[in-house]
Amino acid sequence: MSTKPAQGHAEIIGAGISGLTVATALGQRGWSVRLHERDSEIRAIGAGIYVWGNGLRALKALGLHDEAVVGAHIGPVLESRDHRNRVVESIPINSAGRPEVRTIMRDRLISTLVKGAEAAGVEIVTGSEVTVSGSDGALVNVDGESVGGGADVVIAADGVRSRVRDRFGLTVCHDHMKQGATRLTVPRSDDFVPAADRDKYIEYFSGRRRVLYTPSSATALYVALVADESDTAASKVPVDTDTWVRSFPHLETLLRSLDGVPARWDTFEFLKLRSWSHGRVALIGDAAHAQPPYLGQGGGCAMMNALGLADALSAPGAGPVEGRLAAWEAAERPLIEHTQQWSYRLRLLNLIPDAPRSSLLGLTGRWKGLGASRMRAALAVPTGADRFDGAAA
Ligand SMILES: Cc1cc2nc3c(=O)[nH]c(=O)nc-3n(C[C@H](O)[C@H](O)[C@H](O)COP(=O)(O)OP(=O)(O)OC[C@H]3O[C@@H](n4cnc5c(N)ncnc54)[C@H](O)[C@@H]3O)c2cc1C
Repeated sequence: MSTKPAQGHAEIIGAGISGLTVATALGQRGWSVRLHERDSEIRAIGAGIYVWGNGLRALKALGLHDEAVVGAHIGPVLESRDHRNRVVESIPINSAGRPEVRTIMRDRLISTLVKGAEAAGVEIVTGSEVTVSGSDGALVNVDGESVGGGADVVIAADGVRSRVRDRFGLTVCHDHMKQGATRLTVPRSDDFVPAADRDKYIEYFSGRRRVLYTPSSATALYVALVADESDTAASKVPVDTDTWVRSFPHLETLLRSLDGVPARWDTFEFLKLRSWSHGRVALIGDAAHAQPPYLGQGGGCAMMNALGLADALSAPGAGPVEGRLAAWEAAERPLIEHTQQWSYRLRLLNLIPDAPRSSLLGLTGRWKGLGASRMRAALAVPTGADRFDGAAA
């Protein structure tokens, strides 16, 4: 008697936000799923993450929203401040008719997704570094030995340095950008900013540097220090607090608290592929559509797209996997690329000198039609949004 599962078998490479989301969604739709993670355990870096409306809706559809947002921070406004600490743009959020966002610690998001995957019957294999050997999706380990076999679909969620993508030569544009960020988390303190600002999300600009102030729970403050990669003092880890205090004297107490705190620098990347699939192998998340974090949408897009992929693969009577993957890409790609383009454009704000940038942000802040365009670009309702309305199995 055949033991083939009702929907088919999926092998997934990489247990980050994308791999865990698509694994859970497929498991909930009746697939047998094996998820390979090369690290010995599944972990997140010690930073916060903005989860916007699209990501929150994806979590709801998986039945994981309430657990993911336990302890999350819900800020009232997203502010931009100029080099003199003047508010130049202010976008109200999280109130009726406004964009919705939660900031949470990454380990909370990842551990919730792991629980969701386990509950959906996903087999998670850690310490398993794999890649594909051909378009039929045959999986091999680092020694070139076959790992299992017979998958109906293979999904590469192996991050921005995806070996699967490179194996198939799918890249048409890969910009290793000249900007990046150091991320850290410190305990929240009443001394960092005035009481009226404490709960806000604030992006401070000075020269070609930015500081992003993000409360991510009642006790945790996530800080991102954005700079040019060539700015060696600012991109140094551990953080050179003196150089940051020189740019942001009004944040001295906060910046001094970063001394000796574990930190991680990442250079931003932008990626565009010729196709998101090759034969029965699909690519998703940063492996397929990495974007700089100026909209805080890389993870949200990954979750939204993972749900779309699981639906396209599970649609009744939709024919061979190759055709389903093509239909998925046609439906999802326009919105994902729209979001990528906007986040890529926003890098230009770092290049504008302080005075004209203040005027520009002041203008966009006052001009209703443009004011929130930075976020609206990423918050349009995705194609096939009705999938968000389905309750998790
Ligand atoms: C500074 C910064 C701030 C950001 N802020 C936000 C934000 O606020 N909101 C937001 O939505 N997004 C944000 N992002 C983007 C977001 O973090 C990424 O888009 C998201 O984490 C990508 O997830 P992923 O699963 O595609 O890739 P990854 O998180 O890179 O996961 C890939 C996984 O695959 C594993 N792997 C790799 N190769 C193999 C292999 N051969 N075999 C097995 N396993 C393998 C890796 O170990 C890893 O676990 C930010 C990014 C940066 C750099």
